[in-house]
Amino acid sequence: MNIVILSRKAELYSTQALFKAAEERGHNVSVIDPLRCYMNITSNRPSISYRGEKLSDIDAVIPRIGASITFYGAAVVRQFEMMDVYCINESVAISRSRDKLRSLQLLASKGIGLPVTGFSHSTKYTEDLIEMVGGTPLVVKLLEGTQGIGVVLCENNNAASSVIEAFRGLNTNILVQEFIKEAKGEDIRCLVVGDKVVASMMRKGKEGEFRSNLHRGGTAKVIKITPEERSTAVRACKIMGLHMAGVDILRSNHGPVVMEINSSPGLEGIEKSTGKDIAGMIIEFIEKKRKTPKSPDQGRGVR
Ligand code: ADP
Repeated sequence: MNIVILSRKAELYSTQALFKAAEERGHNVSVIDPLRCYMNITSNRPSISYRGEKLSDIDAVIPRIGASITFYGAAVVRQFEMMDVYCINESVAISRSRDKLRSLQLLASKGIGLPVTGFSHSTKYTEDLIEMVGGTPLVVKLLEGTQGIGVVLCENNNAASSVIEAFRGLNTNILVQEFIKEAKGEDIRCLVVGDKVVASMMRKGKEGEFRSNLHRGGTAKVIKITPEERSTAVRACKIMGLHMAGVDILRSNHGPVVMEINSSPGLEGIEKSTGKDIAGMIIEFIEKKRKTPKSPDQGRGVR
């Protein structure tokens, strides 16, 4: 197969791992920077050019679209879909997963466990909003933050009101969320490929930190997840329309709650802590998918 990895940086661990896994399995693989792609949007013969040449005969695309380039990155993925190229995650699912509010609304509508979450444009009813999520302590989150940036724990009502008003004053969109204290700064990252959790790890924030992001100094260890956590992760991915994703789950008093779904999950932490060749599993999944007929919702059907 001719496989394209859409990634801004060829030297990133995840990009490298996917590149090697594809090469080892005899595929012809290239890393393409989505921001350097340009496209001809025509109904007849949609095409993508890269560094002066038209891309052709591509069999599969692995999008690794960073949050900062979601808009253009998703457009490039959509163009590949228009060219009938198999994309492991489709553009619409990537865009959907980047919007935390949209993701939570969708997951809630399908009965997935979530932290109690509120959202408001106006700051006029902040007190009521705080009460709606069960009072303080609570977590305020930027709708489009990543790697734990813009996730703030507010211990009391005054702090919560100030933070909410400050964020809204900057015209940023936020979520207000029940603080899952019982998670004790730990969360579970489930790596889903197809309809399976292929690896999972527990991440713990550094001393005194409630955010468990590895980028914030958190550490990871292997963990055995419960059947309920497993099915929650798989169902959440299915609802989002993602075939490969990282699902972050907190262990709450009311069962597993999904915090977020990442359509370009980092492979370094989870491969190193579990010793599993996840990049290899992703390539194998693509090989299988390419052999099976297309599902009706794949490619041209959904935007
Ligand atoms: P990001 O997308 O920026 O990583 P998350 O929503 O995943 O933001 O939050 C970052 C970290 O903060 C999570 O991994 C988790 O450890 C912690 N966290 C987030 N929301 C809550 C919450 N409602 N209760 C307890 N801890 C939380």
